[in-house]
Amino acid sequence: MPISFHGGHSGNYCDHAEGKLEDVICQAIEQGFTHYGLSEHMPRTQSEYLYPEEYKRGRSPEQLEHMFAMYIREGRQLQYKYKEQLHILVGMETELIGNNFDEIEYFCHKYTPDYLVGSVHYVHRIPFDYGENEFEKLERLLGDTEAVFCAYYDAQFELFQRIRPQVVGHFDLIRLFRPQFSLSKKIWERIERNLTCAIANDALFEINARAFKKKLDEPYPQHEILQLLVTLGGKVTLGDDSHRPEEVGLNYEKVFQFLEKQGISSVYALERDGQGHLFHKQVPVPC
Ligand SMILES: [Zn+2]
Ligand SMILES: [Zn+2]
Repeated sequence: MPISFHGGHSGNYCDHAEGKLEDVICQAIEQGFTHYGLSEHMPRTQSEYLYPEEYKRGRSPEQLEHMFAMYIREGRQLQYKYKEQLHILVGMETELIGNNFDEIEYFCHKYTPDYLVGSVHYVHRIPFDYGENEFEKLERLLGDTEAVFCAYYDAQFELFQRIRPQVVGHFDLIRLFRPQFSLSKKIWERIERNLTCAIANDALFEINARAFKKKLDEPYPQHEILQLLVTLGGKVTLGDDSHRPEEVGLNYEKVFQFLEKQGISSVYALERDGQGHLFHKQVPVPC
């Protein structure tokens, strides 16, 4: 029975997603999911960080926050409506831009999401995963690819230390446009430091299927990092990172094959008890 703890972005609440949030849930139920964690993007609070599609629609940061508030509201309604069929969590994917830790904490207090997916999509305020141009801009700014990878992992480390997300989103997203880049000692030291920190926080590491859609050969994190993670005692979960109903469970067969090859036969789901406390539940990898 599949699970996902990153995704459920929908056209209702995210301008780079499509479709309805309720259809995402219905699709998950149809596919026999037992747990589905919704993790809409945290709103960005400054106009300069709006994405082109948001500019085109004339969005303002205030509107993004309003959409997020509506997402939490509908998420809670769906959580209740479908509680017999699916364990739904209503979460938030972090946006770390510069040092906006106060903002992340502010949204957590105001909207009380069930859990956080800790993601880094910006380095030095550049949205490096938006397109290869942005990634190259960052390489020019910092000097080379190694410096970009190091800066990414340094930002991620701060996020783990300060915010302690329950789920780590696409741990090595930074390799999106440089999948063949060989990881130097300096980068590996940072990877090990970050893994150790998130493990100490008792976070789950998402095996992210969206990497396949982006034409990578392996999910995030790549197998060398996954092996280190397992050696250090880390726990993994799954995420389809869906941005429309048709993407629920997309490329999960490839993820299951990958996990089998890596010798991983079980993953962890997050569950909420009656008091709203989260706990980990071990579930077998469906084959
Ligand atoms: Zn997204
Ligand atoms: Zn993400």
